[in-house]
Amino acid sequence: MGLVVQKYGGSSVADAEGIKRVAKRIVDAKKNGHQVVVVVSAMGDTTDELIDLAEQVSPIPAGREFDMLLTAGERISMALLAMAIKNLGHEAQSFTGSQAGVITDSVHNKARIIDVTPGRIRTSIDEGNIAIVAGFQGVSQDKKDITTLGRGGSDTTAVALAAALDADVCEIYTDVDGVFTADPRVVRKARKIEWISSEDMLELAASGSKVLLHRCVEYARRYNIPIHVRSSFSGLPGTWVSNENPQGDTQVEHAIISGVAHDVSEAKITVVGVPDKPGEAAVIFRAIADAEINIDMIVQNVSAASTGLTDISFTLPKAEGHKAMNALEKAKSAIGFESLRYDDQIGKISLVGAGMKTNPGVTASFFQALSDAGVNIELISTSEIRISVVTRQDDVNEAVRAVHTAFGLDSDSDEAVVYGGTGR
Ligand code: ADP
Ligand code: ASP
Ligand code: MG
Repeated sequence: MGLVVQKYGGSSVADAEGIKRVAKRIVDAKKNGHQVVVVVSAMGDTTDELIDLAEQVSPIPAGREFDMLLTAGERISMALLAMAIKNLGHEAQSFTGSQAGVITDSVHNKARIIDVTPGRIRTSIDEGNIAIVAGFQGVSQDKKDITTLGRGGSDTTAVALAAALDADVCEIYTDVDGVFTADPRVVRKARKIEWISSEDMLELAASGSKVLLHRCVEYARRYNIPIHVRSSFSGLPGTWVSNENPQGDTQVEHAIISGVAHDVSEAKITVVGVPDKPGEAAVIFRAIADAEINIDMIVQNVSAASTGLTDISFTLPKAEGHKAMNALEKAKSAIGFESLRYDDQIGKISLVGAGMKTNPGVTASFFQALSDAGVNIELISTSEIRISVVTRQDDVNEAVRAVHTAFGLDSDSDEAVVYGGTGR
């Protein structure tokens, strides 16, 4: 008998029917002799609806009360799911993140898990129950306030619990059949990947493939937890994400490219007319860091010799745009820039694959594909196993499809199925 942690995303529990369907699946796992711990997200687009509501009463909701509000979404689904399981004649108990022992730091709206003490969950499953845990939430170690882990954070809750409970596997159930070579909502010819290394998955997730959250993959890699991403709507096997290929490296030739990711959740800020002297970038990015904002790409233009001024652009989550602009305005006299420009009509396309390290032609083919599709590139950044470009948001879908085709990733059989969700 093994212990399995199953996580069901919002699209899998979007309505009462969905909850009943998921309850059956959970009961089946229990009947197969497993101890089952379930992590559940808020129903459908509940979190977005709660955010919309908050924005109607306060222009930029944040902090403690915002977390209190958002965690309500997962409390609804956990209780309903436990009821649906009981209705099938099995015992289930639901727990908030705090009750489940998910301890975080105190950065509201994007807290990090620092410890998991799942004593109550262990007791509950040892007594024969199915334990249902509200995803995406925890309690801060110092102030004992309720926190949330950032959008998509239920994935992280699941892996963190799997690690703390020493589970055999963490199953992430969603509205597609696994991890594909591109988002199936954009590329109908995307191909399901049977196994992907944590390394490549981490890069895809960090580049916007929201099928798994990057923090969750990071956690799984550190604690060596295999993840099985699959559909809660079909019975098909999904995608395994792990540090080592379960088939052994010799059997399966590594694909050069794992996939294409895209992200339209970022904005670009340009600091115009920055004096071109040592220390300027340090002051700018200190101001951003002090506001607890993570940035992604950075470019600095060559300064015009006549003016001695340069422009620095960087990308960041749109949700942090307002905070970043305020932080820079406040630091204006220390930095000495001329003006700020904010652009939220950008998109990012990334090509990911460990095989890039040893295949010099990849970058050239990537740019060629974008050029053939008539897509203009605004920013470029690379890592050993990834190339990313920023383009106009309107060009993103076309660019993803062009790159997917150019790298021979299009499948020639079944079209990728999207079972549910709104893609929001
Ligand atoms: P959940 O509600 O289950 O957490 P999400 O919406 O967070 O689901 O994640 C699943 C979605 O991720 C899919 O519906 C799909 O549109 C999107 N997605 C983006 N990139 C990929 C990819 N490479 N493979 C599979 N799905 C992807
Ligand atoms: N409900 C939260 C969100 O929509 C967390 C999650 O679904 O993982 O972001
Ligand atoms: Mg998700």
